[in-house]
Amino acid sequence: MALIVKKFGGTSVGSVERIEAVADKIIASRSNGDDIVVVVSAMSGETNRLIALAEKIQEQPSPRELDVLVSTGEQVTVALLAMALHKRGCGARSFTGSQVRILTDSAHTRARIQEIDSQRIKDELDQGHVVVVAGFQGVDGDGNITTLGRGGSDTSAVALAAALDADECQIYTDVKGVYTTDPRVVEDARLLRTITFEEMLELASLGAKVLQIRSVEFAGKYKVPLRVLSSFEDDPGTLITLEDNTEMEAPIISGIAFTRDEAKVTVSGVPDVPGVAYQVLGPVSDAGIEVDVIVQNVSADGTTDITFTVKRQDSEQTRKLVTAVAQQVGARDVSVDNRIAKVSLVGVGMRSHAGIASQMFKTLADESINIQIITTSEIKISVVIEEKYLELAVRSLHSAFGLGEETALAG
Ligand code: ADP
Ligand code: ASP
Ligand code: MG
Repeated sequence: MALIVKKFGGTSVGSVERIEAVADKIIASRSNGDDIVVVVSAMSGETNRLIALAEKIQEQPSPRELDVLVSTGEQVTVALLAMALHKRGCGARSFTGSQVRILTDSAHTRARIQEIDSQRIKDELDQGHVVVVAGFQGVDGDGNITTLGRGGSDTSAVALAAALDADECQIYTDVKGVYTTDPRVVEDARLLRTITFEEMLELASLGAKVLQIRSVEFAGKYKVPLRVLSSFEDDPGTLITLEDNTEMEAPIISGIAFTRDEAKVTVSGVPDVPGVAYQVLGPVSDAGIEVDVIVQNVSADGTTDITFTVKRQDSEQTRKLVTAVAQQVGARDVSVDNRIAKVSLVGVGMRSHAGIASQMFKTLADESINIQIITTSEIKISVVIEEKYLELAVRSLHSAFGLGEETALAG
């Protein structure tokens, strides 16, 4: 008898009919004799709806109150799912994050899980119940409700699986698994049967929202067997593996990730003296704003340009902070561009293969797409481009690197 944690995302519980279908799925897997813990998201669109309500009242609501508000979305779904299970004669009990006691730090809207008291869940399982837990939420040491950041139900599920020492954590979603890129952008994207944790971490951190990055970190750290699969189709989906490579010859590139949620900030004409990068970026990081790619270039006249990216939602605050510093250090200009996107190639095979970067740049050049910033690490290359070319860039790179279903079959 196995213990399985199953997580169902927003689309999978998007209506009463879908919640009933999830209940049927759970009953079917229970018939093998497995113990089941279910984690659910809010019904699709609900979290956005709640945030929009808050913003109607206040542009920047208190993060504590925002957490009290948005955590209600998941509370609705757990209760409805428990009822759907009862209707089918199955013992089930729903719990909020704080009832299970998913203890987090106090960083509202982006809290981190610190500890889970699994005893209550184990007692319920011993009584033969399916345990239905609200994803995305926890409680801090002072009893305040916290949430784990957008997409955080994935992390709730993996953390529960780790705490319960589950045999597998299954993330049910609205696509068949992890693909070479977002199948909604590239029709020919190929379903990956396995992917390494290392690659999944990169894809998730570079924008592939199929798994929240924290969930992948947890799974790697606590060695939780993790699978992504469809709520709507019977298919084994994608297994995230610990081994370096499960195939004899691993592909050089395993996937392409992209994000539209960044903005580019350029401070030009900065006097080229030691300490300026710190002077410009210090106030930004002191304000808790996450800086992603950074480039600095010295021009012929002895001044330097510093360009970096931040989350788009932080771009206005960054502009204000950097404009103040620019005046102090005597920089010429500050500009902010919100219409950028970042495209990244990810693959562990890149380590041993030269020429990937130049093939990437050539592919983009052939489509007349201008590259604004380039960053690389051992297993990824990212470029920042104009947002309007994003889909063209992803499609042409996907085909240039032979990632598609068609190409793979032909090869
Ligand atoms: P859920 O509500 O189930 O948590 P999400 O919307 O958070 O679902 O994540 C699933 C979505 O992730 C898919 O619908 C797909 O558009 C997107 N996605 C982005 N990149 C990938 C990828 N490489 N593989 C699969 N899905 C991806
Ligand atoms: N409901 C939350 C969100 O929309 C958490 C999740 O779905 O994972 O971000
Ligand atoms: Mg999600």
